[in-house]
Amino acid sequence: MNDFRSGFIAILGRPNVGKSTLVNALLGQKVAAVSPKPQTTRKRQLGILTSDSYQLVFVDTPGIHSPRHKLGQFLNQEAQESLEGVDVILWLVDASVKPTEEDRQIGSLLNGTPRRIPLVLAANKIDLVPPETLEARLEAYQATVRKEAQVVRISATQGRNLDELTELLVSLIPFRPPEFDEEQITDSYERDIAADLIREACLLNLRDEVPHGVGVRIDEFAERENGMLYIAATVFVERTSQKGILIGEGGRMMKAIGSQARKEIEEMGGRAVYLDLRVKVLKDWRNDENAMLRLGYKIKRKKKSR
Ligand code: GDP
Ligand code: MG
Repeated sequence: MNDFRSGFIAILGRPNVGKSTLVNALLGQKVAAVSPKPQTTRKRQLGILTSDSYQLVFVDTPGIHSPRHKLGQFLNQEAQESLEGVDVILWLVDASVKPTEEDRQIGSLLNGTPRRIPLVLAANKIDLVPPETLEARLEAYQATVRKEAQVVRISATQGRNLDELTELLVSLIPFRPPEFDEEQITDSYERDIAADLIREACLLNLRDEVPHGVGVRIDEFAERENGMLYIAATVFVERTSQKGILIGEGGRMMKAIGSQARKEIEEMGGRAVYLDLRVKVLKDWRNDENAMLRLGYKIKRKKKSR
């Protein structure tokens, strides 16, 4: 076990560059999701790739690619915090287009991250770029970010150079025993992540109107005969007034939240989802330990420490 490598890889990139596609391609069909821990830093695990000799834990970077927010000062800070403790930063860009303003903002954010965290610039969608354009395109992206970034040219949909990318990532993480046990990596955690995605969709859509007073409980999580995943969930709020906001005029807010959450859950699991959401008031649930337990908030301890 002495030569085992394990580490956290933060994936970031603006929407639509192919982050989900890449993670799914790297992990194969099996979505290896691990339960998020609500009490700790919000770092969503996207998937875990384990082999005989390494474990790569891919994590999301909240605050960088939420389409509804600008990358303002506050979000920059949130994003910076979410990079704490990661071993490699993987910045995914869409090589089929020139760097956008958003790419430049991410680039400048990355220039402010600690130098000891290696940076990999993965240029995705190379299948769409004529070879004569590719190098100039890459230079334009490289120019936005610190010099020592290592560049890999990939196509997530065609699976091109993904081995090379994996090898590079593995070479950049430390020798260390695996963070997660093999048996922990099962899709039973999909359920917990679904709850987290629903909660996130609430927070994104509501902005600051119902701050953190939202809890989510999964009531039913079942695969239907047609392969579709049926999820029924209850969203808890602390006050009646919040319930109104959450439902919105003519149910519009709930609908927006539901469709965003459904899309994210489908992306995670790679299958169609039917999502049935309801809202309930549970007074001051955040101060009520039993209520929190009922909502599934618990601290999950790692078996192995390093
Ligand atoms: P995300 O928002 O960063 O998670 O991006 P997605 O993974 O959802 O991908 C956005 C779109 O880009 C989807 O339609 C993907 O099929 C497409 N896409 C992702 N990677 C590639 C690629 O390597 N080549 C091409 N041609 N399309 C890609
Ligand atoms: Mg995505």
